[in-house]
Amino acid sequence: MCGIVGYVGSKKATPVLINGLLSLEYRGYDSAGIAVIENNELSVLKDKGRVANLKQMPEIENLNSSIGIAHTRWATHGKPSRENSHPHLDNSKQFAVVHNGIIENYHELREFLTSKGYSFLSQTDTEVIPNLIHYYYTNGISDEDKFLRAVKSAVDDLKGSYAIEVISKLYPDRVIVVRKDSPLVIGTTKEENFIASDIPAILPYTKDFYLLDDYEYAVIYKDHIKFFDNTLSSRSKAIKNIEWDATAAEKNGFEDYMLKEIYEQPNSIRETIGSRFKLGEKCSFDDINLSKEYLQSINKIYIVACGTAMHAGLIGKNAIEKLCHIPTEVDIASEFRYRNPIIDDKTFCIYISQSGETADTIAALKLAKSKGAKTLAVSNVIGSSITREADYTIYTHAGPEIAVASTKAYTSQIVLLVIFAIYLTENLGRSDVATTESLKADILDLPTKLESVLAETEQIQKFADKIYTEHDMYFLGRGCDYNVAMEGSLKLKEISYIHSEAYAAGELKHGPIALIENGVTVIGILTNPDLVEKSISNLQEVVSRGAKTLIITNQKLSNSNFNYIINIPEINPLVSPILSVVPLQLFAYYIAKNKGLDVDKPRNLAKSVTVE
Ligand code: GLU
Repeated sequence: MCGIVGYVGSKKATPVLINGLLSLEYRGYDSAGIAVIENNELSVLKDKGRVANLKQMPEIENLNSSIGIAHTRWATHGKPSRENSHPHLDNSKQFAVVHNGIIENYHELREFLTSKGYSFLSQTDTEVIPNLIHYYYTNGISDEDKFLRAVKSAVDDLKGSYAIEVISKLYPDRVIVVRKDSPLVIGTTKEENFIASDIPAILPYTKDFYLLDDYEYAVIYKDHIKFFDNTLSSRSKAIKNIEWDATAAEKNGFEDYMLKEIYEQPNSIRETIGSRFKLGEKCSFDDINLSKEYLQSINKIYIVACGTAMHAGLIGKNAIEKLCHIPTEVDIASEFRYRNPIIDDKTFCIYISQSGETADTIAALKLAKSKGAKTLAVSNVIGSSITREADYTIYTHAGPEIAVASTKAYTSQIVLLVIFAIYLTENLGRSDVATTESLKADILDLPTKLESVLAETEQIQKFADKIYTEHDMYFLGRGCDYNVAMEGSLKLKEISYIHSEAYAAGELKHGPIALIENGVTVIGILTNPDLVEKSISNLQEVVSRGAKTLIITNQKLSNSNFNYIINIPEINPLVSPILSVVPLQLFAYYIAKNKGLDVDKPRNLAKSVTVE
């Protein structure tokens, strides 16, 4: 789950590599390193810690090479240390490799190589790769395309997931890359080529990209690229033009990406809505082509995802069941893939992944496909792995999300799922026009209403200032408010490291109320008029036991026993989570800031989870 960068061109490689790593640091940040070919020798600089440490190493100034590879690590095998940092070299120091992913059979490969006389300096799974390349290079590979063939033979031995870059001092004009289940893109111009795990890292240099497929090899020179399939037959590949704005991936004056992304939500939601509907017209998804007969045959929908995306799925389920009357189940991808779910050709499966690279979600999608279900991916990243696996894809178009804790991708996922639910009901012929038209009007109002929620940021900040030293908090709600409580609690854990729990308010007296005592903080979300009275009663129970309360509501509350009330605009309950989650995002943000934490790069986490 790391960041990979590479460069082949005529200018100095190190600034491109370091800048690329800095923008990929959200993917992993416990170590960083680069390898370049300097005077026909490999030069490696690496250490544990952030990319900033690497950048400050005095030796870096002396590297003038125009070809190099780089890595920012999120350790899976071996603690963060200099030895375990990438790039890794083979014993003869002829090949340098960076790797994103996990080599599941590294133990047996290590034993094999040890038996052939190789030794290892690190505890990583990765170090087998350069040594395997060397082993094949020196053992029976024919001379033609020797470097590529050695890489391919080594890769054939690997089980697991990988995106790999290889350079060799014997071939100082090229970088070889290959991937399986880990992302890798190549940015191209006439005179230079760039490699990265993710598009924004190289957007400042080009908008023309090749999106590498699983088991596909690219041999990248400064002015051309050769592509090969898994049998090393050469293949041609189309360039994809990516019209993202490079500045959209910068901070634009905000202190952190997370705050910027929270504030971007009115706009990202406008982008998500795009031209998918106008009032008085049916919703359209050009990218989906599902017949009425097929839609009518669906008897079950699964929504499968991880973390925040799974929480968005819970809101999507509510909309689909309410509007389409199709039973819908939400599952965690890592559970779904191993529990032999009941799926057939009447099951429709939706997979949500911001990055489109979430390993568990992709595996869960492949499973449903193999059982005959049609699959739909909901992703933010054009051409990402999940979009290439799914039968259909709908994009959130929220723009690059850099902060590890997801905010704008979550709200865009919800908007898109609700629009998709409207599309389904309209195409099933089950829609009640008055209901769907009023819901559409409310969706179109979301950006403006969100702006008014953001205008209340100071209030949230004040509450966060008062309670940031606490150790436990509870989030309560019913229905979608409970689903938002789950997301609020996750956000708080992720970036402030405060323990918190979300409960369906009605569950309180079945156990957790035992934890409520004087001074405990409870956050209540009250937006569904049908359920508000019930939730208020539950919150009264915690007030009576001495809890401090913060309430997010769009209702007029007659009772003012609560300590803080944040009022948000009223809106259709199917989309109210989009407004009620924003104060919770800000709450987690300001608590983390008060604690002096790095909100964009919380400890132990990484943005896209490309390993199981
Ligand atoms: N498994 C490799 C390691 O632990 C790569 C981890 C990563 O993707 O950053 O070094």
